[in-house]
Amino acid sequence: MKRLKKTFIIGMIMVCAVVSMMFLRGLGPKRAENAAIPEAPPAGITDAPTPEKPAETELPPPQDNDSDRTGGEEEPPLMATPHFSMEEYQCDCAGYCDGWPCVVEPELLEKIEALRCYFGRPVIITSGVRCEARNEEVGGVSWSFHKRGCAADLYCPGVGVGDLAAGAKDCGLNVLPYYSSGYIHVEI
Ligand SMILES: [Zn+2]
Ligand SMILES: [Zn+2]
Repeated sequence: MKRLKKTFIIGMIMVCAVVSMMFLRGLGPKRAENAAIPEAPPAGITDAPTPEKPAETELPPPQDNDSDRTGGEEEPPLMATPHFSMEEYQCDCAGYCDGWPCVVEPELLEKIEALRCYFGRPVIITSGVRCEARNEEVGGVSWSFHKRGCAADLYCPGVGVGDLAAGAKDCGLNVLPYYSSGYIHVEI
């Protein structure tokens, strides 16, 4: 009986060993398959977000462009001096030029700014630089300083032509007063 028990036990151990070997072999490929299956979806998942991320990054730039556009519309005018914008000096023709047939001499800008501060009142520029066509149109002389950015016509509401001319001379400008028209021509 003892031998039978030993044989039976040994047999059971062998059977268990074989079964466990079979079981482990069976798990082997299953693990590989299970491992292979999860690997495929992650690959698909990682591919899916990739196109979404660029799409998300593409959205902000248009928003930035929109803010830049609104910023451009609200952009303040380019100032020539603290009280005058460059636009006030540009050629006012109907399109013969782009508005700037020449540059305005900085010395003229500074002296007209000084004139504005001299009276402490707004000074209105009626003519700054002129292109050839605009100069002829307004009857300017052929040698006009307006064509070289060295002259401007202006008036100062509340200040008479005589006083304005005197003030302009004090500011270092050469002056030609037009009493009947109510403005002065100043040049450097
Ligand atoms: Zn012009
Ligand atoms: Zn003039």
